[in-house]
Amino acid sequence: MKTLVVLLPCLITFLYCSSVPVTGRKQLDLVPQSQLLALSAEQYKQFLDSSKVIKGTPEAQMVERVAGNIELAVKKYFDYQKMSSRLDGYSWESNLIEDSSANAFAMPGGKTVIFTGILPLTENETGLAVVMGHEIAHAVANHGSERMSQLLLVQLGGMVLSDALNKQPEITRQLAMVAFGVGTQVGVLLPYSRLQEAEADRLGLIFMAMAGYDPRAAIPFWQRMSQRDRVNIPEFLSTHPSNDARINNISNQLPEAMGYFKGRKEMQ
Ligand SMILES: [Zn+2]
Repeated sequence: MKTLVVLLPCLITFLYCSSVPVTGRKQLDLVPQSQLLALSAEQYKQFLDSSKVIKGTPEAQMVERVAGNIELAVKKYFDYQKMSSRLDGYSWESNLIEDSSANAFAMPGGKTVIFTGILPLTENETGLAVVMGHEIAHAVANHGSERMSQLLLVQLGGMVLSDALNKQPEITRQLAMVAFGVGTQVGVLLPYSRLQEAEADRLGLIFMAMAGYDPRAAIPFWQRMSQRDRVNIPEFLSTHPSNDARINNISNQLPEAMGYFKGRKEMQ
């Protein structure tokens, strides 16, 4: 029995494994894309229904414009990587909501939410592209799906999503909210794992650069977040990953992204 408990996760990892687009890292996948996108769309709608969505203001238009530009960049990048099928079933959408938290999140299927509270920190359209690029990178690198798979493994013994939804619908929906980063307490405020954050930073810089936004804006943006965190976020939440380590990491990732910004990379 003990052996089984030890072996089961390894076996599940072996049977249900896919790779992160672009970086090629192997990730646990207990969640078929079609079910994942359906669950994500349902939760996105619920979140918007319970939020104050802002439409038609210059800020709301900016959010839609940046999301549209990053979406085009992502499609171009995936096309170039011959991975366009990974975006099948996506239904891209972005909304600005009235909420003073300095937060944002993106869900599987390309659905993003920007909170008005983060706009003073993004300062302008390029700063918003830093956040949008980062959050959309989490979505297209399947980080929500990976986190959902890990939660299914730990909380429900590795049940695949369809079984979990049938047998434990309430718990499964709650796990999905956490996995997808839905709500005011997660998103930017409660990061993914260090590895996933580094991946999202790297891809986000490339996507924003391809969309025509200067990726060097990421450094001052995360410095402003860091400044704010020192004042507002409890120590236990602010340290993972540390903003200094992130800024350092982004400095190392910038030369790659600048290649896309200056259009030197051959994308045909
Ligand atoms: Zn993140």
